[in-house]
Amino acid sequence: MIMGTSVEITVSQVNLKKAEEAMSAAFREVERIDFLMSHYREDSEISRITRHAGEKEIQVSPETLEVIERALYFSRLSAGAFDITIGPVFRMWNFREGKIPEGKILRENLRKVDYRKIKVDHARCSVFLQDGGMELDLGAIAKGYAVDKACAILQKEGVENFLVNAGGDLKVKGSKEKGIPWIIGIQHPRLPSALVAKLRPFQAAVATSGDYEKFFSHGGERYHHILIPLTGMPARECQSVTIMAPSAMDADALATAVFVLGPQKGFALLKQFPHAHAIIVDGRESVLLSPNWPEGVLLPP
Ligand code: ADP
Ligand code: MG
Repeated sequence: MIMGTSVEITVSQVNLKKAEEAMSAAFREVERIDFLMSHYREDSEISRITRHAGEKEIQVSPETLEVIERALYFSRLSAGAFDITIGPVFRMWNFREGKIPEGKILRENLRKVDYRKIKVDHARCSVFLQDGGMELDLGAIAKGYAVDKACAILQKEGVENFLVNAGGDLKVKGSKEKGIPWIIGIQHPRLPSALVAKLRPFQAAVATSGDYEKFFSHGGERYHHILIPLTGMPARECQSVTIMAPSAMDADALATAVFVLGPQKGFALLKQFPHAHAIIVDGRESVLLSPNWPEGVLLPP
C-alpha cells in the first residue's frame, strides 16, 4: 500500500525466482516510501514536519526532500493550483458522509494553505512550515514517486518488462508478452464500463486524476477530492485528466495541476513539458487531446 492505495506489480519474460525476488524488493521500496511520506502515518517524516509547524525545521531524507522540492516546482508553475499544504482544507471535506464544510470554518482553514510558506533548506536537507496549523499532504504526487522508485528497483534487478500500478498512477516498460504490448485503458469519467481511449506505450508513466473516485452529490452538484487551493472547493472545469510522461511523479502531479487549472490554462502549462501528453475530459464531457502525441501510442477506445 502507498497512502491507502494498493500497488500492483506485473512482470513478464523473466523466470519465476528472479520475478519473485525483484517484486519483493520493489514492494519493500514502496513500503519504505510510505513510511517516509504518508501523512496517514504518525511517525512519517511528513507527519513530523506537520507536527512541528510554526515551531522548528525537520531534517528529512533526500527522498522526501526531492518530492517536496518537485511539488514546490509544480506549485510555482501552476501559480498555486497544485499545493501540498491543502491538508487543513481537505480535512474539512467528508466524502463518505457527503457533508459540505461550513463556509466560516473553510475560510479559517484556507489561511493555512500556502505553498510559499514551506521553507526548504536544501543544503541542510530540512523542511519547515512557517505557520502553526499548516499541514503537508503528498497525496497528489507521492504515489507517482513510489511507482518510479519501484520501477527503478525492477530494472536494477534485471526485469525488462513490467507494469507497476498504484491506483491509476502507473508505469510500464517493454511488453506484456513477446509481441504483445501493454495496453492501458483510460476510464470514462461518467460511464464506468466505457473507455475514453487506450494507450500503447513501450515505456512511459500514465496518471489520471478524476472527479469520479472520491465524491458525493448534493443539490445536483458533484463534490470531489481535487480542490482549488484558493477557495477550498472542488475544481469544476474537468471530469478527468490523464497525463503520459517519462516520470510517474511528474505525471501524477501534472494530472492534478491540470485538473485544477482547467483545459485552457492546463494545456498552456503543458507546453513547458514537451515529453508530457494529455487527455482531458472537460466539464461538458468533451475529450480534448494535447497536440503532438507520439505515433502509435494513442488508440481509439
Ligand atoms: P488520486 O489520489 O485520486 O490519484 P490525485 O493524484 O489528483 O488523485 O490526488 C488527489 C489528492 O491530492 C487528494 O486526495 C488530496 O490529498 C490532494 N489534493 C487535493 N487537491 C489538491 C491540490 N490542488 N494540490 C495538491 N494536492 C491536492
Ligand atoms: Mg496526482
